[in-house]
Amino acid sequence: MDHSPGTDSCAELRDRVRRLTTEWRDAGRYTPRSDSWLRSFDLEFSKELAARGLIAMTYPKEFGGAGRTNVERLAVTEELLRAGAPVAAHWIGDRQIGPAILRHGSRELQEEIVPRIASGDAVFCLGMSEPEAGSDLASVRTTAEQVEGGWLVNGHKIWTTQAHHATHAYLLARTARTERKHDGLSEFILDMDAEGVSVTPIVDLAGEHHFNEVRFENVFVPAHRVVGEVGNGWRQVVEQLSFERGGAERSLSSYPVLVELITEAARQADDRELHALLGSLVARLAVLRRLCFEVASAMDAGQAPVQQAAALKYLGNAFEHDVIEALRRTDLCQEPAVDSGFGQALLASPAFSLRGGAAEVLLSLIARQEARS
Ligand SMILES: Cc1cc2nc3c(=O)[nH]c(=O)nc-3n(C[C@H](O)[C@H](O)[C@H](O)COP(=O)(O)OP(=O)(O)OC[C@H]3O[C@@H](n4cnc5c(N)ncnc54)[C@H](O)[C@@H]3O)c2cc1C
Repeated sequence: MDHSPGTDSCAELRDRVRRLTTEWRDAGRYTPRSDSWLRSFDLEFSKELAARGLIAMTYPKEFGGAGRTNVERLAVTEELLRAGAPVAAHWIGDRQIGPAILRHGSRELQEEIVPRIASGDAVFCLGMSEPEAGSDLASVRTTAEQVEGGWLVNGHKIWTTQAHHATHAYLLARTARTERKHDGLSEFILDMDAEGVSVTPIVDLAGEHHFNEVRFENVFVPAHRVVGEVGNGWRQVVEQLSFERGGAERSLSSYPVLVELITEAARQADDRELHALLGSLVARLAVLRRLCFEVASAMDAGQAPVQQAAALKYLGNAFEHDVIEALRRTDLCQEPAVDSGFGQALLASPAFSLRGGAAEVLLSLIARQEARS
């Protein structure tokens, strides 16, 4: 029996994704891995999903979307993550840039960018963090100065995932010096091949290159590439972060490892402690899936569920941390090769509670929202 949240259409979508990922995996076109939404980049696979209406699912049909619900999208993203499929090429654009432009962008910007995300042609990176502005994002120093016909951007972003593959960047920049640092920020869409943009690789603990430093030197951005209102960037980016934090990737990044652990536990029938541990992990995953479903339902009601998404990410990170801890106590983890599924998951795990907002910062956000309500 399928206990997945959602409707019959979700079951049909799940089936379609399972058939597609099985076909590609069996043909050797990808190898399942943990963290595939961040690290496994294959433009061809993303375009295949686009052609089948499996990205931009919630966008209006007039912009190349499928006009479906966030709950249906959740069914598809869960299946892609469970399959460890190579989805990094479209993940950021589909998850948060399309929705941000649809919520706040001008008609001109929507018509220019959203259909290109839907077709898989626009690959986005996220220009938020800076060397001195990670958790304290409102302290960004990158500036955008108004000039004739647009803006001139100068500054330096860091930890920019997939910037070396991206066609476009989302950028948070300061457009005015204000007393409150949360004021005077604005959001932009930039072309990564614009003059003055340079990308330097950062190789991570696992020896992989997925993030980068990006520098902007007098980069011209046309006026219509501002997202929403000039100076309203903070309020808009906080909303956008609920789309970034509120998805299944916050609890299913290490799902391929969890499956291996359960398979291993079946072989170690006498290890009651391991069985009890896995039982509690599976129960927690069921709760997290319910939370994901609630966040998706809130998005379907037109909300940007900032607090619920932060709670989901906080709890999801703790869960994924414990999946890795469970792995550590099995024989499987004695000397995993760096490029094995376990090796990759172990090396990726320190980032779980940092990316998308550090755990302590999420707790502060949840507490502040609670105090206001
Ligand atoms: C795998 C990965 C991918 C990423 N991809 C991107 C990307 O594509 N684009 C992008 O813009 N950024 C990206 N980031 C950056 C990420 O958003 C930041 O790492 C994160 O916001 C934390 O910022 P920081 O690294 O500057 O750490 P800091 O802000 O320096 O924090 C360091 C430590 O101090 C603690 N701390 C900080 N402030 C507080 C506080 N107020 N209260 C309590 N504790 C605090 C934090 O919990 C943390 O443990 C990525 C990060 C990772 C790990």
